[in-house]
Amino acid sequence: MVELSIIVPAFNEAESIPELYDALMATLQRMERSYEIIIVDDGSRDGTREVLAGLVQKDPKVRALVFRRNFGQGAAMDAGFKEAQGEVIITLDADLQNDPEDIPKLLEKMDEGFDVVTGWRSDRKDPFLSKRFPSLISNWLHKRLTGLDIHDSGCTLKCFSREAVSHLDLFGEMHRYIPALLHAQGFRIAEVAVTHHPRRHGVTKYGSARLVNGILDLLYITFWSTFSNRPLHLFGRLGLFLVITGFLAGALKLGQQIYLFFVIGQEVFIGPIQLIGIVCVILGFLFICFGFLFEVQVRIFYRMASTRNYSIRERIGP
Ligand code: UDP
Ligand code: MG
Repeated sequence: MVELSIIVPAFNEAESIPELYDALMATLQRMERSYEIIIVDDGSRDGTREVLAGLVQKDPKVRALVFRRNFGQGAAMDAGFKEAQGEVIITLDADLQNDPEDIPKLLEKMDEGFDVVTGWRSDRKDPFLSKRFPSLISNWLHKRLTGLDIHDSGCTLKCFSREAVSHLDLFGEMHRYIPALLHAQGFRIAEVAVTHHPRRHGVTKYGSARLVNGILDLLYITFWSTFSNRPLHLFGRLGLFLVITGFLAGALKLGQQIYLFFVIGQEVFIGPIQLIGIVCVILGFLFICFGFLFEVQVRIFYRMASTRNYSIRERIGP
């Protein structure tokens, strides 16, 4: 069995890949561990595929997966994870912004007994407004919402145990929050400061717009890690709160008003607060029903996907 699997997502990185390969080789040959390199071409249109075909021919330890079109970095990393055979799995960017020289440092930290070691670009070489500022906000929120105290969730340079990776299914742009996803399952996460270089070839694939997507993804992760095995507790609580607030705000009076209007024939007036109360009661009942529906769906989900909502570290005894 091979010890290390290096996974590299690449989208239009033809110019960088040969240099990345040389840099990787320099580090890997010094380390004397068996390895494989898996580069995933995420639908490039700049000749990345041809560069990869050349590499694969030259070095049997390199494999390439070529996507039919651009499915995104998360999908590329997921494909790499599923292809990897190694005991330890290492991910890094194709554009040389991560430095392969840092790999031994991450592995050393892994040996202290962590399941995941994630890089922290402590001196990040990216533009402030479009990159570092959005990340500042995102990482601050990340710490508050997920409870995982790391500086930099979005650095691709990371190390994983095989076991940790087998618990991942990446959708959309969730690759940025892998540490939080695994932390929620009880895996032990550590962080190590790593070198970061400016991009030398090609262009970045992300702008500042990813802040909005990132915040939405964070909210989803927080929701899923807290309530995935009991969604009714979230929606039910919200629903009950709305129903009670609604009644207090005057929805109770509605009964008396209906009696006065239909039976006595007297004119009645509904004020703005009472109106809000009525809306709250209706919304509250809907939320509770939503909770029931969600609860049923989640049970079906866990059965169909044959995943569990808990995670076993080890078995002691036969
Ligand atoms: N990438 C990818 N698919 C995409 C976007 C990016 O495989 O749809 C790869 C890209 O080739 C690079 C890594 O993901 O190796 C990080 O992308 P990029 O360098 O553009 O992000 P940045 O460093 O600017 O945040
Ligand atoms: Mg980059």
